[in-house]
Amino acid sequence: MKKLIDSKAAIEVYNTLFIHNQDASYGMDLEGRFTIINDAFVEISGYTEEEMIGQPFQVLIREKDLPLTVHHVSRAAVNGERSRFETSIIHKNGHVVNLFVAAIPIIRNDEIKGVVGYAKDITEEKRTKKLLDGQNKVLEMVAKGFSLKDVLDSIVLLMEDVLTGSLCSILLMDHDLGILKKGSAVNLPLEYNHFIHLGVGVGPASGSCGTAAYSQRPVIVEDIEKDSLWNEHRNIALKNNLRACWSYPVLDNHSRTLGTFAVYYHESKRPNHMDMMVIEKATYLTSLAIQHYESEEKINYMAYHDELTGLPNRRLFDLQTSYALGKNKNSALLFIDLDRFKVINDTLGHDYGDLLLKEVADRIKSSIRLHDTAARQGGDEFIVLLDNIKRNEVEKILYRILHILSTPFQINGKEIFVTPSIGISMYPEDGQHESELIRKSDVAMYQAKKDGRNTFRFYDMNMDKEQEEQLKIENELRKVLYKNQLSLYFQPIIDLQSNKVLSIEGLLRWNHPVMGWIPPAKFIPIAEENGLIIPIGTWVMEEACRQLQMLASKGYHHINVAVNLSIRQFYQPNFVSMVANIIRNKRINPERLHFEITESMTADVQLTTAILKELKTLGVSISIDDFGTGYSSLSYLRSFPINTLKIDRSFIKDISQNKEDQDIATMIIFMAHKLGLKVIGEGVETSEQAKFLTDNGCDMLQGYYFSYPLSEDELLSYLREK
Ligand code: C2E
Ligand code: CA
Ligand code: CA
Repeated sequence: MKKLIDSKAAIEVYNTLFIHNQDASYGMDLEGRFTIINDAFVEISGYTEEEMIGQPFQVLIREKDLPLTVHHVSRAAVNGERSRFETSIIHKNGHVVNLFVAAIPIIRNDEIKGVVGYAKDITEEKRTKKLLDGQNKVLEMVAKGFSLKDVLDSIVLLMEDVLTGSLCSILLMDHDLGILKKGSAVNLPLEYNHFIHLGVGVGPASGSCGTAAYSQRPVIVEDIEKDSLWNEHRNIALKNNLRACWSYPVLDNHSRTLGTFAVYYHESKRPNHMDMMVIEKATYLTSLAIQHYESEEKINYMAYHDELTGLPNRRLFDLQTSYALGKNKNSALLFIDLDRFKVINDTLGHDYGDLLLKEVADRIKSSIRLHDTAARQGGDEFIVLLDNIKRNEVEKILYRILHILSTPFQINGKEIFVTPSIGISMYPEDGQHESELIRKSDVAMYQAKKDGRNTFRFYDMNMDKEQEEQLKIENELRKVLYKNQLSLYFQPIIDLQSNKVLSIEGLLRWNHPVMGWIPPAKFIPIAEENGLIIPIGTWVMEEACRQLQMLASKGYHHINVAVNLSIRQFYQPNFVSMVANIIRNKRINPERLHFEITESMTADVQLTTAILKELKTLGVSISIDDFGTGYSSLSYLRSFPINTLKIDRSFIKDISQNKEDQDIATMIIFMAHKLGLKVIGEGVETSEQAKFLTDNGCDMLQGYYFSYPLSEDELLSYLREK
């Protein structure tokens, strides 16, 4: 080292290097007592020159760094070596200052005379590095899928490390309850932890955290003892030696409160600029972590639930089913399909359909037991697992479902009817595994549909065979029109007043070259399901008009032809104009054309009324078919522009013996007449039935007693003989 020269130039150099140095500079004797310090030293340590000079350096050093610091200073003072090291001191006002220190021996005439050096304040640098490392560690934990609790704990520990002497906590907002709940408070006193655990209220004066969550602004309480925000919780805080609490709201990207991040101190304290920046970082990190887990939870929920109805989806259902079946108790699997849902969806729009499905899901859920699982299988299909249950209890639940769905739905002010068809398979009789049980309940559901819908069927082995046949029919049905296998037969309807045939009903016949005659009850439901009923229905209408022309040409101008309509045809957007076209093209008298609709088509009262009114403007007549089997709501009939009511065959079958059926039939006839409607009795097979209906005022009768459905030629000879 060059010797200092006692000259003006040297003094200048000394002044700039030492006195005015930005870093703290010092000189000390061989005992380690300060002999000289500069202004920067005074600032970093908080002590004046007078207080420091003559003091050993050890008084400044933080205890944990003392041994290493002594070691490095002695290297200079004893060994004459230069040394650089990191240490930390306690500032006069109590906070820790991290320093990078250089100690250089002063050697004169080969003798060590003292030590000079400088110390750089690296507190911020160290904090930043710690913070960065900590931040990376936290993000890594998130990425590795640690639990939210673990991640929040590590944020709290990191901040306690960075903000020396602090205790930190993270509270999480429970939006349902409107309170803050504990997220992490690793080192807060046990009693205080319990207090947080019970939930912290959110409000304009609810401690630091409750207020921060409420105002969405940082709330700095320097002294809990004096601050009115702590009026309610002061005692528990002070009892646990907590004096200062700074709380920052944790917000998400849309400024929603996710929780709070709080820093406590044992002594009253204000944050400095650096503290605030650090806490803001912690708050941000906390927000990132919570949002990540929130979206993960949402994704998890979405992965296992049906978005529309909120019911479990197939994945969750499968898990629960395999668990339930594993217990080896009797269980039942229900396959529920809504009847004609597609029509509702197509005519009213998907929004209506969606709302309806939601309501249906709610109702199904309310009809099963708490531990049963209902899931959405897709579309308008639901599956339900009834765990640990006997067959008669299954039936009770089935009736409950049928009953609860029979009340009309109010969707956007519209009244909508919907019915289910339900198939049931039983564990273990019908299958060991879920997939087999579902397949069989599906088969049984189809049977329920075939048996008239709005009902349930338990699986039995014969159903499988039937389904095979059904598939075959479906295949053959696609070719039926261009292969000319269809024909329309006509069943006479007798007018009781004139005892003449005033109407005939067109009934479809399918003669398959291999399978023979296939009854409409077998193929029409299939055609309705796959949409083929639309071209088939058009063909029927044209055929009926052709028949009208034929009859007129033979002089039977007065005979009406009734055509059965399917719900799918009826709700086709261009249905009425299509009918008008056929009437025009075939040049028939529209008054001779009658349409038969069933009660189930009247699901949407307003829409049905509108379509019927339009139809009527063409001049055609309308009958309600199979009356009494549907919703039996005579009150609705009032609003429909209809002409005739056909009492369903099921009431007529036993009418000569069954008093109840007699009452119902009489009642229907009476009510219909009051509404100005004509009544047809269907399926009359015996003279007793005919007599009862005639005596009770029925207007017309139809049935095997008078005639089977007839081919065109058969009809002509029947009419000639009549
Ligand atoms: P539906 O409209 O109720 O037709 C009356 C059914 O009762 C006919 O059965 C008829 O043959 C039968 N029937 C008539 N009198 C008697 C009787 O005295 N005793 C008994 N046991 N049955 C009698 P079919 O022809 O098998 O038709 C069954 C159903 O198929 C019809 O019931 C109707 O819903 C449907 N259907 C027939 N043709 C058409 C059509 O062209 N279009 C549509 N959409 N459906 C049709
Ligand atoms: Ca009919
Ligand atoms: Ca009928």
